[in-house]
Amino acid sequence: MESFETAKDRRTQIIRQLRNQSRFDEAEEIDNCLLRHPCQQALCPVCKLSLRKEFGEKLTSFLRNRARDSNLYAITLIESANAEFNGDIRQAKNTLTQRLRRLFGNRVIAIGCFDLCLNQDSLKEWKPFWHKHFHLIIITNLTKENIKMPLKRFYPTTRQVKRPLRIVKVRTFKRTLTYVLPAPYFPRRVRFLNTKTTQRKPFLAAKEYPLKARELAELSDKIKGNKVRDFLFQYGVRL
Ligand SMILES: [Zn+2]
Repeated sequence: MESFETAKDRRTQIIRQLRNQSRFDEAEEIDNCLLRHPCQQALCPVCKLSLRKEFGEKLTSFLRNRARDSNLYAITLIESANAEFNGDIRQAKNTLTQRLRRLFGNRVIAIGCFDLCLNQDSLKEWKPFWHKHFHLIIITNLTKENIKMPLKRFYPTTRQVKRPLRIVKVRTFKRTLTYVLPAPYFPRRVRFLNTKTTQRKPFLAAKEYPLKARELAELSDKIKGNKVRDFLFQYGVRL
């Protein structure tokens, strides 16, 4: 996990970017963040790190106590049919809860987070949009295929999203955390054609970058009213 120094540097940068975009109120709120009085803003990297630490500890002890005899899968669910975030985190989480309930009932426990990135395409096949996805740990007695197959119909492959559903079996609790804790910051993800390759033909790849000031301001509008905690997702358990 990153250090508080790194998170504070990132916070300074974000405050500067918001001010640069004349978002003085938002910048002020994050600038007033103190460890004793955390601002809890979704864009605040320090509050995010505190949440990552706290939730990480809870999750580790939960896994130690309850998940010894279960299978653990790290799953990434990238929305493909209805990929763009409409500004309603609660609705996105409710949709997933309904899907899990319908497909698995109480045969799975799912813990993780809702996440966003700005999806950009350097080939200009689509306009940049805020792409919603989930990172989850699934605790269950079901097999990998029994989890993957039913989910497939909600996460079809599209031109934009080649691999909407990713699932790997995890063996250590520590590794689990790297999959499911909220990411330290919101990135933009840029698809590009990789031509610097000698072994094979040019292929499509993607790289992540920090948001530009203008993009950060846009995100700030999108997630206004949400706190860091609102990004957590829990199904069948409350840590
Ligand atoms: Zn804060």
